[in-house]
Amino acid sequence: MKVKTHFLRGFILKVVYPVLMLIGAFFKSKKQEFQAYIVKLNNILVMRNNINVKKILLLLPHCIQNSKCDIRLTFDVFKCRRCGKCKIKDLIEIAENYNISIAIATGGTIARKVVKEVKPDAIIAVACERDLSSGIVDTYPIPVIGILNERPFGPCIDTTVSLKQIEDALKWFINHQEK
Ligand code: SF4
Repeated sequence: MKVKTHFLRGFILKVVYPVLMLIGAFFKSKKQEFQAYIVKLNNILVMRNNINVKKILLLLPHCIQNSKCDIRLTFDVFKCRRCGKCKIKDLIEIAENYNISIAIATGGTIARKVVKEVKPDAIIAVACERDLSSGIVDTYPIPVIGILNERPFGPCIDTTVSLKQIEDALKWFINHQEK
């Protein structure tokens, strides 16, 4: 069952996803919908089997940081002064409470670098449809639960995320360890 799910996830990410993106190149209005669908399908498949997880990485997009904040967090999230003007403060607290790694990536290259350095057993990733779907594909076979960001001010600026969704994903990994 586990091997079957693993293979199916690989097939969806490495075969179905590029095909959908090709179709999306012609039907641009559908592209984001396809990306969200891939994220949803990936999450369902990841959560189908128990996973042995010791190290979890919470990977966040740069746009979640308040756009007026001048601290550079890319290489050290803990430089945040925790003023509470954006969700970075709460996300650091979650990472501390659950003893997991946390990082901010400004793009795919940095995200890949962080994953290579941290070597997580599982990732909880937050991003928009495009970055999240391509990131999940890039990091396969690492199990990733993808959470879409919220964009009250439009894309790429002062975005936010549901803390409950992050905690639910964390609890899922913690409560579904392989026996
Ligand atoms: S919570 Fe941290 S990252 Fe957000 S605005 Fe305040 S100091 Fe900057």
